Amino acid sequence: MMTHYFMTTQNKPLRKRRMIATAIALSFSGLALAAVGNEIPKLSAEGYKIERVLQELPMPKISDKQLGSSYWYDEEVQTGDNLTLVLKRLGVSENSIQNFLKESPIDTKMLQLRAGQIISARVDSTGNVTDVQFFSDDDNGERNLVAIGKINGKWSLNIDDIDTETMPSLRSVVVGTSSTGSLAQAGVPVEIRTNLREIFSDKFDLDELKQGDRISILYESLYFRGQEIATGNILAAEITTSGKTYYGYYFDHGDSGGNFYDEYGESLKKGFDGQPIESFTRISSPYGIRLHPVLKTIKMHTGIDYAAPAGTKILAPSDGVVSFSGWKGGYGNTIMLTHENGMETLYGHMSAYISGVNVGKRVKAGDVIGLVGSTGRSTGPHLHYEVRINGQHVNPATVALPTPKLAAEDLAALKKYQQKTNETMAAVRGLPVMVSQRD
Ligand SMILES: [Zn+2]
Repeated sequence: MMTHYFMTTQNKPLRKRRMIATAIALSFSGLALAAVGNEIPKLSAEGYKIERVLQELPMPKISDKQLGSSYWYDEEVQTGDNLTLVLKRLGVSENSIQNFLKESPIDTKMLQLRAGQIISARVDSTGNVTDVQFFSDDDNGERNLVAIGKINGKWSLNIDDIDTETMPSLRSVVVGTSSTGSLAQAGVPVEIRTNLREIFSDKFDLDELKQGDRISILYESLYFRGQEIATGNILAAEITTSGKTYYGYYFDHGDSGGNFYDEYGESLKKGFDGQPIESFTRISSPYGIRLHPVLKTIKMHTGIDYAAPAGTKILAPSDGVVSFSGWKGGYGNTIMLTHENGMETLYGHMSAYISGVNVGKRVKAGDVIGLVGSTGRSTGPHLHYEVRINGQHVNPATVALPTPKLAAEDLAALKKYQQKTNETMAAVRGLPVMVSQRD
């Protein structure tokens, strides 16, 4: 299938794009898969194939009819926000909000919103909201996509079809006053920025990039009803600073997750010293998005689940300080540790605490910090291992587990993947001026 990606200039957010003057079309036959199973198909180096790198697209024809129809609006949740405040900022009429809150099939007071998350609303030509969608935090390591729509004048849950698509997003920016600001303006979501900073943290500090430095990044995006609703892994990144270019490539090791390697196949980040658990039977749920075609649900799992018998030892995977110990909603008995760089790890559903492992206590990598259980909202004994950096969830595998060395055959696969990725990145590098839109 042919997939079109629109690159934005570094100072124009994609979400507010009005007209595309120049566009680059890329096709990734192995990547642009409509998700039909229980989860997003795994990407492998073999499946990553570029059919066409560059194609001129004609100017899109915009008819009066299209301009008059509905459009999606995105709004970022601020600290202390609630749904009403967000909808007001979105320009939703007071009438419409009251109507929505009154007729909504879900208890809007129960919804957990998180600062930084995006709420999308579809607004019709008369300013009335017809659809709202966002992730509601279940407080047990899962988020559920809430999609509500007005059908025949009544608000109802309207995921009647899991019409999703996974596509890679390519962004390239020249750093202006700050790398974070430049990436944000290019439409790179906060979780991708957070992960990017962390995977290169052994090499340089992303926040200290200077004006004129370059960042190119390729990452997975999940679209639902034409809206980017979630991101997956960073697939590749290329950063030029102080005359040196650093490369990072994602290599998937299976259910336990993937890691980043440089152009020579060396681990980009050392990662943590050990596993968070003494032993486990299997990874019962990896990090990321789950699509359930029968129940018609879209869930985000914010950690890695390790199935293990109750009583199995939970270990500190790295040195840290206990920052939380106690009951935590759906997570049940929980321990949290704070590590360097503001990284925080969470261990949920424990059956028992370890005496002396209290808030403020320093722990060493390998210390026992709890025992596996099934407390809180849980279906069986397992450890839910979660990582947050400045409040943002990231895939533990990429930053907070040991980075395995690549076997010879893996190295060969990585080389192939690297070659394909470089061709894609070259399309960006080769552009003398990136003018992709016009106001
Ligand atoms: Zn979990």
